[in-house]
Amino acid sequence: MCGGHNNAGKETFWLGRNGNEDAIRAALALYPAPMSASILKRPLWRRFRPAFLSRAADHVKAGGHAAVIADDGRVRVLLPVDEKGLPVFALWSLLAIEHRRYRRVKDGPAVGLAAVLIRREFVSVVLDWCTRDSMFPGSTRKLKLDCTTCAACCHDANVVLEEKDLERFRAEGRQDLTERAYIKRAKDGIVTLRFAKDGRCQLLAEDKLCSIYSIRPYNCRAFVAGSEACLAAREDTLGVRDGAPKGESALLIEMGKKHE
Ligand code: SF4
Ligand code: SF4
Repeated sequence: MCGGHNNAGKETFWLGRNGNEDAIRAALALYPAPMSASILKRPLWRRFRPAFLSRAADHVKAGGHAAVIADDGRVRVLLPVDEKGLPVFALWSLLAIEHRRYRRVKDGPAVGLAAVLIRREFVSVVLDWCTRDSMFPGSTRKLKLDCTTCAACCHDANVVLEEKDLERFRAEGRQDLTERAYIKRAKDGIVTLRFAKDGRCQLLAEDKLCSIYSIRPYNCRAFVAGSEACLAAREDTLGVRDGAPKGESALLIEMGKKHE
């Protein structure tokens, strides 16, 4: 969990913003991204009706993530949380849909879990995660990933550079990486890596390995294999869907028969 603090009863976390080196280091300490072939255990997303909240809570306690769909279409997700904050896959799920706050449920079957009301523009994303995962039984699944043959997340990414990244580039004799050919500086001062026109990071070598691996940006280091952002990158860049196809009729199984 990175940098959580209390804010009017809510807990807020930040990643990928200037000045968050400690937060990224904390995330790394929790779950460093593997480079070579690894088998990960990741949570499965399930959807539930509010009447089955206790089953949703049981699913989360068993390691899964739950989307609770109200009759009016609003979706609240339930995630595990402990005294250190959100586990890394839960954290990265929220980051993937640009949510940065959660509250702890104070009573009822889901007491103690983290709850987040999903903004409407991201509801379809969360429901698609449920569809994707609907082909796997249980609350967690094993997933084999090999970053050395993938590199999907090194395409079409928004890699924010911290000032420390630029300092490190200079210190390692790569002043060129701080210049316009490699970086973009937005009006608000945010600096990002400049990608090639075909969407590929200019620093990705032909063998799919990062050519500046030992000095790569913190945001690249913090990227978590097996996270929602990782799976989305694999789907968008490689066309690899790690689960059921979009729109599969597994919805019926999820909503009424299997998981409620
Ligand atoms: S998309 Fe995921 S599996 Fe592929 S290189 Fe990135 S972190 Fe590794
Ligand atoms: S700097 Fe390296 S790890 Fe980061 S996006 Fe580019 S190739 Fe990938």
